[in-house]
Amino acid sequence: MIKFPDLLDKKILITGASRGIGREIAKSLASQGAHVLFNHRGDEAKANELKAEFEKIGGKASPLHFDVTNGQQIKTAVDAFVKEHGNIEGLVNNAGISKDQLLMRLKEEDLNSVIDTNLKGAILVTQALSRGFMRTPGASIVNVSSVVGLMGNPGQCAYSASKAGLIGFTKTVAKELAAKKVRANAICPGFIQTDMTDKLDEKVKENYLGVIPLKEFGKTDDVSNLVCFLLSNASAYITGEVIKIDGGLYI
Ligand code: NAP
Repeated sequence: MIKFPDLLDKKILITGASRGIGREIAKSLASQGAHVLFNHRGDEAKANELKAEFEKIGGKASPLHFDVTNGQQIKTAVDAFVKEHGNIEGLVNNAGISKDQLLMRLKEEDLNSVIDTNLKGAILVTQALSRGFMRTPGASIVNVSSVVGLMGNPGQCAYSASKAGLIGFTKTVAKELAAKKVRANAICPGFIQTDMTDKLDEKVKENYLGVIPLKEFGKTDDVSNLVCFLLSNASAYITGEVIKIDGGLYI
């Protein structure tokens, strides 16, 4: 693992750290000695387990109680943390869901929940942190988009639209906050092995493997390495960028 010394003690919020990519990002940041903040949705016992897991690796960990679709919960949790510990210095908008259906079969409630979680959720969390970011030069935001936000994918109209929206949002935030030396970048993972992709049909997985030039699925630590780099000062001159991490899936 590459060490990024400036991440030591940095207070960084990761949404959706209970599983998959978010959990790996939280573990990587903990091993860099960062103060890892993560949200939970009311399961205090699970949140305490995660806190212990991250603190065992290194650094500090603090659970915040909010759902990314609930602006008031986000604000209350973030304000309470900042009052006690000071400004948050980094953010990874990772929480996300997929509800895959062809356009003709897409239900309005599924469209709403995907857009609310993946796009509106990221905007609300970033907004809640933005005042503090304006006073924190060097703060860095990483939005977890997807290659399907760039290339589209049959059966993923709501998901791909939410991920494409996240890219536009990233570029706007990069421009709005650049004067305060705050950066925002988006990453576009391809097929990464997690709960989200485990539930796919074996045939679909085989088809993906056939079109990935590196001929393997991505691992969560492939993604967390990139995220640590983008949160650190090693990437200080990179902002508004969209970086694919997909084994060549979308060349
Ligand atoms: P995952 O294993 O399904 O985990 C999703 C995480 O998001 C969980 O921690 C979940 O928390 C959280 N979450 C969902 N809805 C939430 C809400 N309303 N409020 C707060 N937290 C919420 O997903 P993953 O595969 O690690 O994916 C993580 C991110 O990477 C997502 O944005 C996904 O779109 C993106 N991505 C994944 C892949 C891939 O191949 N896996 C590829 C490209 C992009 P709970 O435990 O509370 O449900």
